[in-house]
Amino acid sequence: MNGSPWQIEYGCPQCGAPVTLEETDRLLACPFCRARLYLAAEDHFRYLIPPSPAHTVGELLYLPYWRLRGTLFSVSASEVTHRFVDATTLAVNVPEMPFSLGLRPQVFKLRFVLPDTRGRFIAPDMPVERAISGLGAAPTGVFYQNFIGETVSLLHAPLLLRGETLYDAVLGRPVCRWSNDDMGRLQYGPLTAGEQVRFVATLCPRCGWDMEGEKDSLVLICRNCNTAWTCADKEFRQIPFTAMTPPVRAGEIALYIPFWRMRPRIEGLALASYADLIRMANLPKAMTPAFANEPLYFWSPAFKINPSLYSRWAKQMTALRPIGDENDRLPQTALYPVTLPLAEALEGIIVTLARMGADKQKLYPKLAGLRVTLEESRLEYHPFVREHNELVHASLRITLDRASLTYGVRM
Ligand SMILES: [Zn+2]
Ligand SMILES: [Zn+2]
Repeated sequence: MNGSPWQIEYGCPQCGAPVTLEETDRLLACPFCRARLYLAAEDHFRYLIPPSPAHTVGELLYLPYWRLRGTLFSVSASEVTHRFVDATTLAVNVPEMPFSLGLRPQVFKLRFVLPDTRGRFIAPDMPVERAISGLGAAPTGVFYQNFIGETVSLLHAPLLLRGETLYDAVLGRPVCRWSNDDMGRLQYGPLTAGEQVRFVATLCPRCGWDMEGEKDSLVLICRNCNTAWTCADKEFRQIPFTAMTPPVRAGEIALYIPFWRMRPRIEGLALASYADLIRMANLPKAMTPAFANEPLYFWSPAFKINPSLYSRWAKQMTALRPIGDENDRLPQTALYPVTLPLAEALEGIIVTLARMGADKQKLYPKLAGLRVTLEESRLEYHPFVREHNELVHASLRITLDRASLTYGVRM
């Protein structure tokens, strides 16, 4: 099931030159006209498989599939396990249609859905949550499953309706019989502007400076006015950040690595303060009355990393609670890009909780019923020093293998 990331081909919105992107790319730097644009989508990115020019007779329709790539965590009675998922599953309830596209999307260069895209798009009638729960029927004894997505998008596969038969518009082969009544079961039409990809200028909304980021960065920074921005829908929004100050004798800082710090509200469990967490995880801490007034924080890597390391770092940071001197100035040292969105970090909280809980028998049956919402969050850049092949957290002294940090294609 481990496919490679998809490639998307399209014309630069400024000069029209052909550009090829990987699906995780967000920042486009056109090699021809040097335009710098950021790709944004209001909910999910939507791609299409281009129909073959050899097959054009009939009405062009597009069938939606959910694209799910990421890690599925499962909590059973004794352990937390994970597996990598890379799947496309049909997003409408039509048993006649192929349920999965298999490897096909890797073979073709995909396109974005743009205002001039021809054809009618069948609207998904299966919410993404249902597609996720269909990824693997939870084996017996599993208390909780959660998908932490690297990519959740919609892919549209082209069909041609000719007479009362639907044909695959890539291979030209018949797919199934299809009548007007069948058509009536579905909703379809052109995609609205809100459903199409947007190209947003990468100028700082506050001061107009060119913002900085790697090609797959989910957060761009402005070094001129010292601000950080995400573009979750159609425009950039400022997000709070801080850079942790390294201890005096830490040595030379090689890199700042981003983490999300979240203050969640957890319904369904008596877990609201740091004191509650110490008790629940049986942390080796001398309890003081002040802990009952200290907020509950969870940390999560804000970058993609393999699932074992993801879990380990989320757990260690949450237990060790790296609170200290902080600075609202962006450091001059290199910043590792943010590639894991806050929404996915929030999804990870229950998995972290499962890994930390001391009394698994009592905790695990409650996990599926918990409701976690975010009360407050911020991005934190933590300083790391380099020691041989490892990066070491400057104050916690925990190590991270440098090889695990090269832009992993997998989370
Ligand atoms: Zn261009
Ligand atoms: Zn600025």
